[in-house]
Amino acid sequence: MQVAVVTVGDELLVGDTENTNATWLGARLTERGATVERVVVVPDERGDIATEVATLADRYDAVVVTGGVGPTHDDVTLDGVAAAFDREVVQHDDAVAYFESHDGYQFADLTDGTASLPAGARLLENDEGVAPGAVVENVYVLPGVPDEMKSMFESVAEEFDGTASHVEFVHVDAPESSLIDPLDEIQAEFGVTVGSYPGDGVRVKIQHEDPETAREAADWFRERV
Ligand code: ATP
Ligand code: MG
Repeated sequence: MQVAVVTVGDELLVGDTENTNATWLGARLTERGATVERVVVVPDERGDIATEVATLADRYDAVVVTGGVGPTHDDVTLDGVAAAFDREVVQHDDAVAYFESHDGYQFADLTDGTASLPAGARLLENDEGVAPGAVVENVYVLPGVPDEMKSMFESVAEEFDGTASHVEFVHVDAPESSLIDPLDEIQAEFGVTVGSYPGDGVRVKIQHEDPETAREAADWFRERV
């Protein structure tokens, strides 16, 4: 399953907030076996969100959007997602029922718009906060607050799948240029996918659907370098 991630927020673009939601979703979706094909950051602009989401929803099996779902003035994500599908944002019956049945909330006391979602959306409950999320066709809209985003993602995690691959890491204390030949050979020999990440030495990532093949390839590589 091919997935795109859209993180919404001016604060992400200027570096005020580190985009940990993108990192977390990338890891978690991959763990589920899904392939993350795109991660994008867009400003809190309805039109930008609508354009990006419409394109990605068409191109990939699913899109996960986080940020800007609250009822405050700068939260326009649900408007943008609704626009991507030519839908209106409406007061949503399930959201109203959710708030009315929820301990500690009086629907009448909530900020206007808290129970508004794109028409026909599936409501996602927010166990860690207030603002609900939504699923519109193949687009999953989650809050920006990391704890809320994570817990809401887990409520739909089973809807993301694919073939998980087994990963082995090998740390090499040598210049990356010395790994060119062994990296070519290991791919030809074992059919594994490799990544090489220089920094403190080189971290080599070796992956294959079959765990045994990944382990054999990693052992071969350790011997070789
Ligand atoms: P709320 O309903 O509380 O307004 P929200 O969905 O509207 O939540 P935002 O207003 O976009 O979320 O952001 C809420 C908080 O979460 C902010 O502190 C923001 O910096 C942080 N946040 C938003 N997006 C991300 C992200 N991609 N990675 C890490 N933190 C994020
Ligand atoms: Mg907000």
